[in-house]
Amino acid sequence: MELEDLVRGYALKNAVKHGGRAKPGSVISMIMSDHPELRGKAREIAKLAKQIVEEVNKLPPEEQKRLLEEKYPWALEEKPKKEQEKGLPPLPGAVEGRVVTRFAPNPDFVIHLGNARPAILSDEYAKMYKGRLVLRFEDTDPRTKRPMKEAYTLIKEDLKWLGVVWHEEHIQSLRMETFYNMAKEAIRRGCAYVDTCREKSRELLARGEYCPTRDNPPEWHLEEFEKMIEGYYGEGEAVLRFKTDPRHPNPSVRDWVAFRIIDTSKYPHPLVGSKYVAWPTYNFAVSVDDHLMGITHVLRGKEHQVNTEKQLYVYKCMEWEPPVFIHFGRLKLEGFIMSKSYIRKLLEENPGKFMGYDDPRFGTIAGLRRRGILPEAIRSLILEVGVKKGDARISWDNLAATNRKLLDPIADRIMFVDEPVQLVVEAPECLTATIPYHPDRPERKRRITVCPGDKVLVTRKDAAFENLRLLGLGNFQVKDGKAILESKSLEEAKKKRLPIVQWVPDKAKVPVRVLRPEGLELLVDEGYSEPAIKEYKVDDRLQLIRYGFARIDSAADETYTLIYTHK
Ligand code: GLU
Repeated sequence: MELEDLVRGYALKNAVKHGGRAKPGSVISMIMSDHPELRGKAREIAKLAKQIVEEVNKLPPEEQKRLLEEKYPWALEEKPKKEQEKGLPPLPGAVEGRVVTRFAPNPDFVIHLGNARPAILSDEYAKMYKGRLVLRFEDTDPRTKRPMKEAYTLIKEDLKWLGVVWHEEHIQSLRMETFYNMAKEAIRRGCAYVDTCREKSRELLARGEYCPTRDNPPEWHLEEFEKMIEGYYGEGEAVLRFKTDPRHPNPSVRDWVAFRIIDTSKYPHPLVGSKYVAWPTYNFAVSVDDHLMGITHVLRGKEHQVNTEKQLYVYKCMEWEPPVFIHFGRLKLEGFIMSKSYIRKLLEENPGKFMGYDDPRFGTIAGLRRRGILPEAIRSLILEVGVKKGDARISWDNLAATNRKLLDPIADRIMFVDEPVQLVVEAPECLTATIPYHPDRPERKRRITVCPGDKVLVTRKDAAFENLRLLGLGNFQVKDGKAILESKSLEEAKKKRLPIVQWVPDKAKVPVRVLRPEGLELLVDEGYSEPAIKEYKVDDRLQLIRYGFARIDSAADETYTLIYTHK
């Protein structure tokens, strides 16, 4: 439509509504609200509106009405109210081009759906504001959160698969000198002190008192800290504490530990071995790095709220401007195990039962990928939950429904028969089924020919029908192990409401196992597929007709192993 016509339609509508007199301002704002894509042409529209409104206002009201109804009926249609805009709320204090977010996983295991939330939200916001995302491995606890060497790579693979784009990458265990220097600066500023009271400190702080070393001058602490670094102290013999209020209402905040000794001869770090014994705690390292890496917005779970409180002491002491902290609730995938420690325990205690960290019974990103879940489904659910404070539960049905919507148009449809039963075909001549791989792409199809006396396989349940249609082939009567051709026409099958069933030609059958996760169990459906399955490779996702979606997990020795995704 010409711009002029568009403006005239709106001008007439406005005039008819207001007793024959349109107003240019109202016309312009109606157009801008209904057609945001025209905002770039605001000037031109304003000019046109002024001129056209003048012309329209000169017409008698009945003429305006007639013109509107006859020539501009579209202007009378009420636009449906726009759906509530989906997407994330704006980020407080964000300036385009200046936003820096980060994802800071502990590489002690692979990531799960819950960890994907901060990753995806940080990625989305970085993209939304044309900013940057920093990936930082937080691996400064070689004892209780022992890093897993492969996790550094595996996590990056998972992130890439999720479509997360990062612009910088850091590993904290390779930045120890920086943490030492920052700790010394905090000591010089009188904000941190070496505590050599050992267990006694805990009792003291519980009472709102503290280890008397706290009152020593910074020089003393600098020297003691140096001794910590050099290995003079053993585990538990000295810690560096960050000064807070020793009577802080939350006892865990009181003079929290910023450095402790970890005996790396016993617990070597997978990247730096036994090179260091004085290790910064998460709270110290994260504050230093968020500052040095210029992070503007920290998006993390609300379980870190108390940590934020601790970290703010570092910002205050060092006179750094803190980033904006956003805390959201936990995300659970119903029926799936996500806890790293539980998964590790299951793997250790049940050798052979699980395929590894990427077992499709686990809620790890690798497990979901192996199951056949698409990264877009994960992202879309995470964005839906957004940055809400409350804990969120995603049901498997919800994830499956979202995934199905994405898979349905792209996954080719293949015939698979479990619990196979043989039927001998009786027909006057050879029959050929021509079946498209997907109804939306009718040009891509395979042909399967079956001749009189050939055997076809159908699923046991389907073999119980007296009359059925073998998909694409024809309509048959089933009797005494035989399938007797009655007619070929699909119309006829529809008229008679015959069940249309999947089948496999016996002489070209391909053995297929489908592994079906059920809670902690893994059921196995054994059967055969039509030969077309050979056109696919590991990782391809298929829809097994009347069975469900599945992902090809392996295709070794002529046997295909698939993992059942969902109905
Ligand atoms: N390494 C921390 C974790 O994985 C990061 C928390 C944070 O975002 O500050 O829990």
